[in-house]
Amino acid sequence: MKYSAIQNYIGGQFVDTSTTKTMDVISPLDGNHLSTVPMSNAKDLDDAVKAAQAAFPAWSKTPIKERVQVFFRYKTLLEKNLKELAELCSEENGKTYGESVAEIEKCIELTEFATSLPQLITGELLEVSKGVECRTEHVPLGVVASIVPFNFPSMVPNWTIPNAIALGNCMIIKPSEKVPLSCGRLAEILKEAGLPDGVFNVVHGDVDIVNAICDHPKIEAVSFVGSTKVAKIVYQRATSNYKRCLSLGGAKNHLMVLPDAIPEMTAQNVAASMSGCAGQRCMAASAMIGVGNVDTIVAKICDEARKIIPGVNLGAVINKESQDRIESYISQAEKDGAKILVDGRNTKVAGKEKGTYVGPTVIDFVTPEMSVATEEIFGPVISIIRTKTVDEALAIENKNPYGNAASVFTQNGGMARYIIDKASAGMIGVNVGVPVPREPFSFGGWNESKFGVGDITGKSSIEFWTKLKKSTIKWNAEAGVNWMS
Ligand code: NAD
Repeated sequence: MKYSAIQNYIGGQFVDTSTTKTMDVISPLDGNHLSTVPMSNAKDLDDAVKAAQAAFPAWSKTPIKERVQVFFRYKTLLEKNLKELAELCSEENGKTYGESVAEIEKCIELTEFATSLPQLITGELLEVSKGVECRTEHVPLGVVASIVPFNFPSMVPNWTIPNAIALGNCMIIKPSEKVPLSCGRLAEILKEAGLPDGVFNVVHGDVDIVNAICDHPKIEAVSFVGSTKVAKIVYQRATSNYKRCLSLGGAKNHLMVLPDAIPEMTAQNVAASMSGCAGQRCMAASAMIGVGNVDTIVAKICDEARKIIPGVNLGAVINKESQDRIESYISQAEKDGAKILVDGRNTKVAGKEKGTYVGPTVIDFVTPEMSVATEEIFGPVISIIRTKTVDEALAIENKNPYGNAASVFTQNGGMARYIIDKASAGMIGVNVGVPVPREPFSFGGWNESKFGVGDITGKSSIEFWTKLKKSTIKWNAEAGVNWMS
């Protein structure tokens, strides 16, 4: 075991859980045993809630300009520890070192946004009638929870940590049991940055802890990111317990490629979008809809895909179960009559035989009802559907239940505008394969890719992590003056 057994982080200390149940943490890169992660229980969660409750009065009353000083220092420490954090991310998740560096850089950008919150959170004030003023202020909620998936061990936690905490809340995070190491390291860095004990807590585990979070009466808000199946369960359970909940789910992102798209640029974007992070991104291109004759572009996509080498510029998928699931989707498409132009099945990386790799895969002549066209595959696979018209392409995109992202590749501005208007997705790209809005713009999908109001990052997150206090104040200036004299 490369690292010591993982512990929860409660009240500023790493502590043992009250159970002995653990899971192995295995590196997808080479099958190495990294550590064990505890499966905490409701008592462990309650300990974390108590620590967070104890920290809340002082933290919430600390002026926001002081609170964000912690995040200026946190940002500097993320920069200082970038290499180590990126190595850890790559090791536990399986993505390449370069992708992991990009992930930590994104954490830095998210933290930069949090340091600007004092500029964004100012309330409103108006004299509504003579001597009477109304004012609003954003007030923190209390103890809040963040439940995160395996595919971004540092970035998705940092969608919530800097904003929720800078806004005055105390947080409990439940990392994915598949990638539990990064959050522990983030806890150490937050402490080094000067965050008071109890403001940030990490409780490891699986379903039981998620359920305990949704049920705990002292947790005010739950942020969830993961698959749609679980996003629905969490949203229902948390809101049925009268909690505020924002629950982000899975995705099936469509790239619409028009015949006037620039071939090289489009092919590079499609290949990079479908294979980046081994296709394990909620923003990955999963289905490409070629409108009209896009044969040249498809040929170039295959050329680009063949340049993506597992173990070199393509990371591993999270585990064997995932590898098998992705391969079975490819085999099913073949059985259903689609054509496998580039086949990533049965991939082995020399010297890393226990790693779980799937090579880049391009499937052509997919029909809209095939499972590779309708379901989230979460692997480096692009399914190409052919249509004659843009409206047919839009009908396919609109019919899928998800709505995270959609992109169009064209040189026609009017057509791009038409697709922006008609696509049923929260984030749209024009000649961009992974249309993730950069800070300060907010991140969030539509339809079954997100349940709850608002987005998880950017200004939208201020509304989620705070409540508004409205005061109506009447002072009679003349009476005050008379009293003084
Ligand atoms: P997942 O839903 O399996 O797990 C997410 C979290 O929920 C984990 O912490 C896990 O321990 C917990 N969990 C798992 N099963 C549960 C259950 N039955 N009840 C309660 N909790 C449960 O997701 P994953 O496999 O870790 O991540 C991949 C998924 O996340 C993909 O579908 C991807 O699209 C999605 N994702 C979405 C976004 C977004 O912004 N919409 C971002 C990243 C990932």
